[in-house]
Amino acid sequence: MGFFQVDQIPLDSVSDNMTADAPKRQLLRTIVESNRPDLGQYAGFYRDVHQNPDISAMEANTAKKAASHLERLGYTVHPHIGGHGVVGMFSNGPGKIVLMRAELDALPILEETSVPYRSERRMVDRYGNERPVMHACGHDMNMAALLAAADLLKAAAHHWNGTLLVVFQPDEEETGGAQAMLDDGLYDRVPVPDLMLGQHVGPLRAGTVAIRSGPILVAADSLRIRVTGGPCEGSANPQICVDPIPLSMRIVSGLQEAVTHEVGPHEDATVACWGFHAGEPGDDYVTHADILLDIKTIKPDIRRRVLDVVMKKFLDECRAAGVPRDPEFKHTVRAPLTSNDDAIAGTVRYAFHDYFAGNVAEMTLNRACEDFSTLGAAPYNVPYAYWKFGSTPEDAVKPVPVNHSPFFAPEVNLTLKTGADAMALAALAFLVV
Ligand SMILES: [Zn+2]
Repeated sequence: MGFFQVDQIPLDSVSDNMTADAPKRQLLRTIVESNRPDLGQYAGFYRDVHQNPDISAMEANTAKKAASHLERLGYTVHPHIGGHGVVGMFSNGPGKIVLMRAELDALPILEETSVPYRSERRMVDRYGNERPVMHACGHDMNMAALLAAADLLKAAAHHWNGTLLVVFQPDEEETGGAQAMLDDGLYDRVPVPDLMLGQHVGPLRAGTVAIRSGPILVAADSLRIRVTGGPCEGSANPQICVDPIPLSMRIVSGLQEAVTHEVGPHEDATVACWGFHAGEPGDDYVTHADILLDIKTIKPDIRRRVLDVVMKKFLDECRAAGVPRDPEFKHTVRAPLTSNDDAIAGTVRYAFHDYFAGNVAEMTLNRACEDFSTLGAAPYNVPYAYWKFGSTPEDAVKPVPVNHSPFFAPEVNLTLKTGADAMALAALAFLVV
């Protein structure tokens, strides 16, 4: 997932119904505080995984560490789902089936923090390129917090009933891992959950959590487009041979305007070019240009229209320029909208509000994307809540590095405690009846 914005709206009021059910809220607090494991071992897990990250779809080592830890905790472990996906299951009598998820993968980024456990790892990615690797999105912290929550919940098993599914998902950064787990029979091995919980570390003050109902992360599509120039038989003269570079640049620079014109300025729809490659040093002329686009939207009908507008724009401009071949389109990423269910997010927020007191914020719609919701997509239609928890030390110097920055360096202890408590508390809110 991409970076988080840091803007947040503090909750300044508590609705009347939040004052009800005080005994249950007190019980949840007691369960969390009296069953929280020693977090030192999870801080150790975090530092180890941070120093030894795995790039997307190549997470064998990290998956093995998560699986063996779940086994030690007494979970029944299902490894190798959709690549390196891992699910730990713990059945504790009749009750709700709750899925909790963290991500296994790191990013192809050269770490520039000064922490003693910084990564110096390089890996060959799935495309055959050797890359530096860094947990610059904080999935290492998400994993450590999830494992600690799984430990806490197991230790507190006599307080609740139901089933836990602890999911470590591969390949989140390219948003393919959730679908790969489904395609590989995730729900043939474990039951379909009644609800799902996900959380992500981000640049809020450590000790805080942020949640809200409704859309929180945009839908995203990435397109890889090849524009071919020419015809160039016998001459590279631009009067008879179209250069694909200026042609492609012209198309790209007009895309956002074309989209805004088509869907209207009031709709949330953006097109960004994040990659452009044409030619090699020493080439006399260039045959084609490759363009990478990110399209971000909220509404499904607008998403379809924007995709249509972008593809038509390339097609029309290439044909008007007289090139011999239509552009080629490859749809590389399809990340769904992440939109919290009102009832599930309401219950989680209610539990958070009491436990974290003044440290709960209203999450804002963010332009990052996620494939968490895919785990519960149709035909399963599992409702879910997804929130973020803060990682910024009190004395941080601004500007604070955000997710996907080579300088992203979460504070460890309070961040881990907050993430572990938040995940355990959210699960208990549904499992303690
Ligand atoms: Zn992420």
